[in-house]
Amino acid sequence: MTYGFNVHYSYTHLNQAFYSESAPLTFDNPSYHYFNHTLARALGLDETLATQKGLDFLLDTRGHGLNMPIAMAYSGHQYGNYTVLGDGRAHLLFEHRHNNDLFDIQLKGSGPTKYSRGFDGRLTLRSALLEYIISEALYHLNVPTSRSLAVIKTHDHVKRMTREDGALLIRVAKSHIRFGTFEYASNHPDKRLLKELIDYAIERHDKDLVHANNRYMTWFKRVIKRQAALIAKWQSIGFVHGVMNTDNALISGETIDYGPCAFIDSYDLTSVYSSIDAMGRYAYGQQPYIGSWNLATLGKGLLPLFNKDKDKPIERIQAALSEFGPIFETHYYTLMAQKIGIGQFKKSDIPLIDALLDIMARFKEDYTNTFINLTTQHYPKTPFYQSDDFKAWHKRWMDRLSCEQAPFERMQKHNPFIIPRNHILKNALDHAAYQDNYDAFNALLKHIRNPFNPSIPSSLQRPPSNDEIVTTYCGT
Ligand code: AMP
Ligand code: MG
Repeated sequence: MTYGFNVHYSYTHLNQAFYSESAPLTFDNPSYHYFNHTLARALGLDETLATQKGLDFLLDTRGHGLNMPIAMAYSGHQYGNYTVLGDGRAHLLFEHRHNNDLFDIQLKGSGPTKYSRGFDGRLTLRSALLEYIISEALYHLNVPTSRSLAVIKTHDHVKRMTREDGALLIRVAKSHIRFGTFEYASNHPDKRLLKELIDYAIERHDKDLVHANNRYMTWFKRVIKRQAALIAKWQSIGFVHGVMNTDNALISGETIDYGPCAFIDSYDLTSVYSSIDAMGRYAYGQQPYIGSWNLATLGKGLLPLFNKDKDKPIERIQAALSEFGPIFETHYYTLMAQKIGIGQFKKSDIPLIDALLDIMARFKEDYTNTFINLTTQHYPKTPFYQSDDFKAWHKRWMDRLSCEQAPFERMQKHNPFIIPRNHILKNALDHAAYQDNYDAFNALLKHIRNPFNPSIPSSLQRPPSNDEIVTTYCGT
């Protein structure tokens, strides 16, 4: 009985330097806490996976065809500094093949591995719930993301600032190949690893390039495009990842690792939520630049694949990187244009979009709610909407919309009526993880799964008052 899983192994065919076999911890009484039925169905899995027997199957890792699951090796630039890392608290159980796509099925919080660096390898229930709900939110906002198949209670405790309930998360991703995996290969004494990794990545994510001329450079350009598209989506919904280290960037272009992330409330490019990001390296407005920096780091790691003299790799990598900005801008402004009802974005629309953002920034106006108000055409009597600047902008906007078909219908499809606001999420997570009260968490989870539906309780749309603005912590 494999519960619909098409168990597959490809990563373990790579050189052993890329992983180490590692036994996950076993727990006396693990039980499902949340099970993502919709995701299970989308992956072609059986409903019975949601039963205790299904959970036993997932956690009985010896039954899957390998002696042991694996922890992946990788490096990464953390806050700009190179570090050798690896899965310190995750185990890849197996890959699942569905409709010709491969998905990593990973257990997170499953105990120490060779790469734990003295940490405990565990995950708190609070962190598991956070990753579950934010990955769901991003998915339903049409942002590429790793997803969560289940939160599992371990019914034991992990030590953080205080004693917290422990949990496991089943994470599903197109792969876990990080920019940092390439850095790891590029810095490894075995010089064959880099080529092996890129060939594997191309085979897995960009099969059409397997026999292409210049496939390594073409592939790098693809990765640039995917990052640009991803970060444009983050910017358009006001999502701050919070820890854009190169080990948290996937070459598939999916979002991964939900730690100190948040959605902006008022429109402010300097918004930082992570309590450990004192310098604002990963502030909201910095994300496109960091994306480009991360790609430059990846590009540098690829240099050994090219013949220095014949291929002129530095020049070609630089030329590819210089495309990031224009590609990002096109994606970003196309999305922003849709948010104000424009279907066929033209370059001449950029000043109109920028002008709105500029007024929002000056009035510290709520980002998401401004677009809701523009969509519904209901404007509160606040200084922002009553300002001459907004009125003048509104007139320009109406002129522009006169040549658009059904702009308000379009806006309704592109402006979420709910995002998981930080202060609301914090309250929901604290009640759930620390007081076993899931009312707020479940309500939020239900509504973020249907974000373009206008009937959202106004309590979930409320921006924070000044004393409710909270930082997220890297607490894991
Ligand atoms: P992150 O900031 O979550 O991307 O984690 C950075 C690195 O630290 C990764 O290699 C993680 O596997 C590792 N790590 C984070 N938390 C723990 C933990 N509690 N135990 C072991 N390793 C951890
Ligand atoms: Mg990480």
